[in-house]
Amino acid sequence: MDYLLTDEQKMLRDMVSKFAKEEIGPVATKMQAEETFPESIVQQLGELGVMGIAYPEEYGGAGMDFVSYMLAVEAISRYCASTGVIVSAHSSLVVDPIFRFGTEAQKKKYLPDLCSGKKIGCHALTEPGAGSDVGSLKTTAKLVGDKWVLNGTKHFITNGANAEIAVIFALTEPEQKTRGISAFIVEKGTPGFKIGKLEDKLGIRASTTAELIFEDCAIPKDNLLGELNKGFKIAMITLDGGRLGIASQALGIAKASIEDSIVYSKERQQFGQPIANFQAIQWMLAEMETEYEAAWLLTYRGSLMKDKGMKYSKEAAMAKLKASETASFCANKAIQIHGGYGYIKEFDVERYLRDAKITEIYEGTNEIMRLVISAGMLK
Ligand SMILES: Cc1cc2nc3c(=O)[nH]c(=O)nc-3n(C[C@H](O)[C@H](O)[C@H](O)COP(=O)(O)OP(=O)(O)OC[C@H]3O[C@@H](n4cnc5c(N)ncnc54)[C@H](O)[C@@H]3O)c2cc1C
Repeated sequence: MDYLLTDEQKMLRDMVSKFAKEEIGPVATKMQAEETFPESIVQQLGELGVMGIAYPEEYGGAGMDFVSYMLAVEAISRYCASTGVIVSAHSSLVVDPIFRFGTEAQKKKYLPDLCSGKKIGCHALTEPGAGSDVGSLKTTAKLVGDKWVLNGTKHFITNGANAEIAVIFALTEPEQKTRGISAFIVEKGTPGFKIGKLEDKLGIRASTTAELIFEDCAIPKDNLLGELNKGFKIAMITLDGGRLGIASQALGIAKASIEDSIVYSKERQQFGQPIANFQAIQWMLAEMETEYEAAWLLTYRGSLMKDKGMKYSKEAAMAKLKASETASFCANKAIQIHGGYGYIKEFDVERYLRDAKITEIYEGTNEIMRLVISAGMLK
């Protein structure tokens, strides 16, 4: 699909792909087995401009577009889906809302460190009782003097244990429900803000997933992000971009599954010939490639629409739905093509299947994606 890309986009993709292959690929399996957060890799990605690709240079970004970001997240996730989500959650869910809704002072204060990867961000919306129904969140923020005082618990937060800057959502007018939610920027080390339980997960094990606890956590009044009581809208707009990031992560997993399957099917001999000679294997490869390209085009379309300033909620949901199901489909077929070897940890394909599953769940489950798509159709 190179003919759809500009020379600048192709150069960026090739540069990130080379880095991912040489620096992330060789350590990806070990990192996820040992649950090691890739701190130095994230720092290097920051130096390459990848932690703030789609944001202006005046705030420390690379000044490129969202399509470039999509290509970078895919290229990273091809080798390590954990690193892919670290970049995606940081960029789509933290850099983006601060750039889009922050005051000039907030942008100048937070974006340069975030875009350079010096500081990592996390986005805390989900609570134990508020998942798909995020509007039912219970965390509160009360204005006491010139401080917002936060109380509540967030859970399942990507980058939660490593982030220096958190974008969090809390009720400022509880009786107004979704119209009473506001967004805030909270810095690590603020008294009353602590990291709770770390989750033990099926996949993306080199990324952290943490509980964040706020107990009378007082933050400056100026740390309100965007307008008071407009937090729900901020969250929904932010998640549209986030879903394209997750679709890109899923594309990387699908691509890895396809590439590994091609190599293996040409090498593995049974009945005196490579298994790639069997039509059963060829058909699996053909279906994998077709699903991948369909998912890639949907993700590219959504990213292009975002770059053009168009509305793209439905298209982002379609991209995430298709790409996540494609990642699971391709990883599953990759294991089948690898036979018994695919089921053991010596080969990467079992990791791809474990990593793929979460793309069907986070930043809105695929049931919620179907609701968003049909709402766009029926309005
Ligand atoms: C590894 C990981 C990382 C995450 N990272 C973050 C993060 O960085 N920040 C953050 O805020 N959150 C994060 N999340 C939370 C994630 O977005 C939620 O888990 C997800 O939105 C689903 O919420 P839930 O787990 O409460 O499931 P539930 O909402 O309880 O859903 C359970 C089931 O019911 C279905 N369901 C629910 N409502 C409906 C409906 N109306 N119609 C049809 N089906 C429905 C769901 O699709 C699902 O199948 C993360 C989660 C995980 C596991």
